[in-house]
Amino acid sequence: MAQKFVYRFGGGKAEGRADMKELLGGKGANLAEMANLGVPVPAGFTITTEMCTYYYQHGKTYPKELEAEVLDALHFVEEIMGAKFGDPNNPLLVSVRSGARSSMPGMMETVLNVGLTSKTIPGMIQKTNNPRFVYDAYRRLIMMYSDVVMEKAAGIEPEEGKGIRVQLEHLMAAMKKQKGVTEDTELTADDLKVLVEQFKEKVKEVLGKPFPDDPMEQLWGGISAVFQSWNGKRAVAYRRIEGIPDDWGTAVNVQAMVFGNMGDTSATGVAFTRNPATGENKFYGEWLVNAQGEDVVAGIRTPAPLNEATKNEQNKHMASLETAMPETYKELDAIRTRLEKHYKDMLDIEFTIQEGRLWMLQCRVGKRTGTAALNMAMDMLEEGLIDEKTAVTRLSPNQLDELLHPIVDPAAEKNVKPIAKGLPAGPGGACGQIVFSAADAVEWTKQGKTVILVREETNPEDVEGMRAAVGILTGRGGMTSHAALVARGWGKCCIVGCGALEINYKNKSMTVDGKVYKEGDVLTLNGTRGYVYEGKLAMMNASENPRFVQFMKLVDKFRRLRVRTNADTPEDAKKALEFGAEGIGLFRTEHMFYGKGSDQPLFLLRKMILSKTEEERKAALDELFPYVKKDFKATLEVMDGLPVTVRLLDPPLHEFVPQSPEKQAELAKALGISLEDVKKRGETLHETNPMMGHRGVRLGITYPEITEMQVRALLEATAELLLEGKKVLPEIMIPVVCTVKELDHQKVLVDRVYKEVCAKYKLEKIEFLYGTMIEIPRAALTAGKIAQTAEFFSYGTNDLTQMGFGFSRDDIGGFVPDYVEKKILPADPFQILDQEGIGELIRIGIERGRAVRPKLKVGICGEHGGEPSSVAFCHQVGMDYVSCSPYRVPIARLAAAQAAIKDMK
Ligand code: PEP
Ligand code: MG
Repeated sequence: MAQKFVYRFGGGKAEGRADMKELLGGKGANLAEMANLGVPVPAGFTITTEMCTYYYQHGKTYPKELEAEVLDALHFVEEIMGAKFGDPNNPLLVSVRSGARSSMPGMMETVLNVGLTSKTIPGMIQKTNNPRFVYDAYRRLIMMYSDVVMEKAAGIEPEEGKGIRVQLEHLMAAMKKQKGVTEDTELTADDLKVLVEQFKEKVKEVLGKPFPDDPMEQLWGGISAVFQSWNGKRAVAYRRIEGIPDDWGTAVNVQAMVFGNMGDTSATGVAFTRNPATGENKFYGEWLVNAQGEDVVAGIRTPAPLNEATKNEQNKHMASLETAMPETYKELDAIRTRLEKHYKDMLDIEFTIQEGRLWMLQCRVGKRTGTAALNMAMDMLEEGLIDEKTAVTRLSPNQLDELLHPIVDPAAEKNVKPIAKGLPAGPGGACGQIVFSAADAVEWTKQGKTVILVREETNPEDVEGMRAAVGILTGRGGMTSHAALVARGWGKCCIVGCGALEINYKNKSMTVDGKVYKEGDVLTLNGTRGYVYEGKLAMMNASENPRFVQFMKLVDKFRRLRVRTNADTPEDAKKALEFGAEGIGLFRTEHMFYGKGSDQPLFLLRKMILSKTEEERKAALDELFPYVKKDFKATLEVMDGLPVTVRLLDPPLHEFVPQSPEKQAELAKALGISLEDVKKRGETLHETNPMMGHRGVRLGITYPEITEMQVRALLEATAELLLEGKKVLPEIMIPVVCTVKELDHQKVLVDRVYKEVCAKYKLEKIEFLYGTMIEIPRAALTAGKIAQTAEFFSYGTNDLTQMGFGFSRDDIGGFVPDYVEKKILPADPFQILDQEGIGELIRIGIERGRAVRPKLKVGICGEHGGEPSSVAFCHQVGMDYVSCSPYRVPIARLAAAQAAIKDMK
């Protein structure tokens, strides 16, 4: 059989179904479904998305069969509606609308009232006995058609304010002025009759072509314009943001027009079967008497509430549909129930009432806020409308994120433009006065002010200021830069890599796009989107929903992956436990040298780093030892028997070399050497590529005493807790390993220290695991050998991405955005795991590792461990756990459950 390009619906039946969205687009598939359900839908037909693809593949032409198929379908519509397209006495008018697989609201084009011509106008007037209505419909057709078909689809790009629609609007405004009226509805039939002639002249003058007076020409013009709009600028930009593939194409829906603007028994409206902002189970919507759909959407008139129960302050004085047209409202309400029962979800519907008769024009699964998604999922579960698995899939991980942070009120955000954009490093919103140094952030906060810390980039010395600030904004850096990692760990709002900022520390100011912002000026950050706004925008706190816990319980029923957290302090560990963490997957030892209470340990660490001899170094390490042990012990204790992976010191030592003259002087004194010597020793530690320099296990190989001190501190802390009757489960993790020999070398030390600690505490054994990070491609490839020594693998996908791509993780701000923009990469690989390349290394590593050690425990502790699509990948490749910052623990739990549910299907 020849390929079928046109699917009909109407008269209680349809050729399509709701599950044919790929072919018919969301709108077409749902119109078909409603028709099949017997819901009143004006008859029509859908031209498939395949035709859109064909159209673009064949130089914007159609196969010759299409015309006959369209004509046949048009006859079908004519028969059901009892009117004929182009007929002078009894004309049928149609709408031509787009409909992609997933909704792209407002991104593509629509033409209404197609089929009105000089020949059909008299027939329409006779039929409706309403000349005003007919001329109003005609002027709308000319406006839309000339704009959508004759200008946009023809590729004409007029100057700002010179588009045909604007010019026609000017004519209409002039007419209203001349008639001394303010509302469109106050123009009479005669006024409109004059106006349409003016419109036609203007169209010819501006576009050089007459407005077509042939119905078929109008129809095909409309169809092609919709296909064209698939590649319109707005649609392309939207697809890029939403990740919708270009080759999906749109369908075209041609449907008999019904009119909501035929007088006071006609109306139009949009509704949600439940409240999309709160999830409340109340029919919620807006309607306008004597109006066409575009009037509601365009906000030309203020719509009235659908019913009494959902009136608000702004619309409480207006008549609801429930009271104005009680019978029709009842019918609509019954359809609402029927559709919800059938679709088992909240729907967004559009309807028109033509002279008392109700018609459904659209239904689709409605968009909703995180709070609403949560409440609806739990309500529908309780109502027996959906099962547990479905409830778990009803909240996207991003929506869950919304529930965990205060956010910028989307309504407030809609009205303003961001002054700059950066990378969304820490989700949620923040609003505060800007300061340009960590010290000021701390000081101002002490004074009771709310501040946003603005830095070129942050380093460990800024941590206290970062903690004090409500939000962090940096000019440089990527998603795994210091600022991003720290902020995300705390669940703090943060935007990094905001290239538009020109920061002047000296003047305590910054310039953005020519405008100067001084210390104390107020900004609002949307860390979820990476948008920076001037001034104060309203914030929303969505987190206190008691159903959250209930929902998360449900989530945990289905997931296989365990979820741990990256935490380095007892406070973070506690927070993560509240969020449901089942262990610590990454305790970065070096974090004890940053932030609160770190002065003395940092001083001792510096002393150790600048030591010249082993003796000096050992002495410094001995001094440092009690601090490290205390630090380990506190977190191990909080975790109460859950596994805690402690990673030995990882960063290049030069990161800790003191820069300020006072600190250098202090050290010189402590080491009994000159200031000059301190500086010199610091300089010798300088590296050109520190990320690939003397860091991670390499430190332990050169200075075994550093490893020894840490292992002893950990095992002694463990032994003491055990003797106190506590439960402890430490795991020693060696970072930046590239060969098993490194692991073996360190293992000798670990075994020796282990024996010594057991003897010291008179313990027969101390339970612990010895494992490694896999964060260098060579380690992944030689995983079979590494697994002979390592009892567990933890994928450090920050470094694995860095070294797999050869992209410096701290310097990607300069080029990765371009790569994404130019579609060279689908996304920033530091945010979303590159499954094709880095994922392959992970797969190979697991396979080779488990071939040698079948029970090898495998997890991930890079930033990807909290990113939903990456978590799903970790599930697929058979990892045992993911580990992420505390605030992302619930997100990872949900993503893991959804991945498991997908497997069950
Ligand atoms: C990693 O590389 O993925 C990792 C977790 O370690 P870090 O970010 O501390 O280098
Ligand atoms: Mg790393």
